[in-house]
Amino acid sequence: MNIALIAHDKKKDDIVKIAEAYKVILEHHDLFATGTTGKRISDETGLNVHRFKSGPLGGDQQIGAYISDNKMDLVIFIRDPLTAQAHEPDISALLRLCDVYEIPLATNVGSAEVLLRGLDAGFYSWRDVSRGQDRDSLHF
Ligand code: PGA
Repeated sequence: MNIALIAHDKKKDDIVKIAEAYKVILEHHDLFATGTTGKRISDETGLNVHRFKSGPLGGDQQIGAYISDNKMDLVIFIRDPLTAQAHEPDISALLRLCDVYEIPLATNVGSAEVLLRGLDAGFYSWRDVSRGQDRDSLHF
């Protein structure tokens, strides 16, 4: 599975802790992250992470492009709900695309843990089916 990891500045310690705690699960998947989050995770856990640009410089939009191409299977975006973000429109767009494409999304540590345990339990096998499909060919 392709997994996106993003955290706002005050939440970066949290996402590093998640990555460390669930390293045995995450290391079996392809990890992607916005620039600063990805550097912290790879430096502090040793996990291999493909880094996009920093979020405020377009990294959220790059991950959104992967979602719209049906190339992202899970998004963990630990948001800071108490601090205004200069790139709020990019954040909203990314969250919206997760809903458009029905991509599992965690925006806090509690839900991230549930999704990662679900991943480990095999709950995402439906993504193996839908990933290869062209979204335009799906019928609702
Ligand atoms: P960063 O971006 O990982 O480069 O800090 C995250 C964000 O704020 O969207």
